[in-house]
Amino acid sequence: MSDYYEVLGLARGASQDEIKKAYRKSALKYHPDRNQDNPDAEKKFKQISEAYEVLSDEKKRQIYDQYGADALRGGMGGMGVGGGGHGGFSSMEEALRTFMNAFGGGGGGGGGGESIFDSLFGFESGSDDAGGQQGSSKKMNLTITFDEAMKGVEKEVNLTNYATCSTCDGLGAKSASGIKRCSQCRGSGQVMQSRGFFTMASTCPQCHGGGKTISDPCPDCRGAGRVKKKQPLTIKIPPGVDTGMRLRLSGHGDAGERGGPPGDLYVFISVEPHSLFHRDGDDLIVELPIGFAEAALGCKKELPTPLGGSCRVSIPEGTQHGKVLRVKGEGSPNVHGQGRGDLLMKVIVETPVGLNEKQKELLTAFGELEGEQNSPRRRGFLDKLKVFFSL
Ligand SMILES: [Zn+2]
Ligand SMILES: [Zn+2]
Repeated sequence: MSDYYEVLGLARGASQDEIKKAYRKSALKYHPDRNQDNPDAEKKFKQISEAYEVLSDEKKRQIYDQYGADALRGGMGGMGVGGGGHGGFSSMEEALRTFMNAFGGGGGGGGGGESIFDSLFGFESGSDDAGGQQGSSKKMNLTITFDEAMKGVEKEVNLTNYATCSTCDGLGAKSASGIKRCSQCRGSGQVMQSRGFFTMASTCPQCHGGGKTISDPCPDCRGAGRVKKKQPLTIKIPPGVDTGMRLRLSGHGDAGERGGPPGDLYVFISVEPHSLFHRDGDDLIVELPIGFAEAALGCKKELPTPLGGSCRVSIPEGTQHGKVLRVKGEGSPNVHGQGRGDLLMKVIVETPVGLNEKQKELLTAFGELEGEQNSPRRRGFLDKLKVFFSL
């Protein structure tokens, strides 16, 4: 039999908080829902659950520290330790029950391990009525400027969340001795009811599935182990985010009740539109209007780039309306840190308006000089028309 502390990777003097955290981490890793048909994981899950069952109970822990695991054999109360002095967890059901007691039952009322496991990973997890269970995940919307999206930004926000009660450290009781195992379900959080041939498990009405009752509730949180608090939070937004993207801040949702794990915070990003740049994935599109003389003769233009620099582009002689020029690597940074997109310039050739007499004269003279070779597309079109009319 391996050492309970070693099994959970803990030092001898570990606090209850550390024990719970270590158990949660391992339990999520070896939980049967994540390790189907894996006997090693099953064995490990039973081992850590057994270790947790003992170490999380100060009385059992004291006996274990002084006399070792053998002293606890047969003394595990309602755990139903199997016969023959074999000891330990004989079935997965018992290991799962330990898991449920640690992180809360209730929820969908299914009684199986799956629903609880799902709620530990799920989006909208946790309801308010069960003890020791995970806090709710939260959503928030955050609008940032285009500039901030390009460069990345840190935003200070104030969140009103349930936070672990500092008076009782999340216990919900004035002292650890005020927490008793629930007498109705003997700590399992579930009561069995017979219906005909079937025995069904349902959430214990006395402890609401937490497995514990509190005889001297903490005055500040009234036994919940958490209080509503307004707290500042810095949200780090990476360069390249775009509207519709979602950041997940693990553990920044509501604190769980009575030491249950916290939920997550999901930040939904909106980016304000920019006056010049439009986004298309990591590429940025900018429309560039030029005069028709510039389009015909060619020109050079200087344009701002999204990270604050500028770039010069040569628009070649004879550029047509709608032509897209690509500047490699001057687009938006990739949000996953994989380089940058391109800057795409869409040329808009603008027909001059409001001509004065002099301009009209010059253009008329130009029109008289203009030959078919100056307008290949127009010539092609006229050829088609000729065929059409001659029929
Ligand atoms: Zn409290
Ligand atoms: Zn109960």
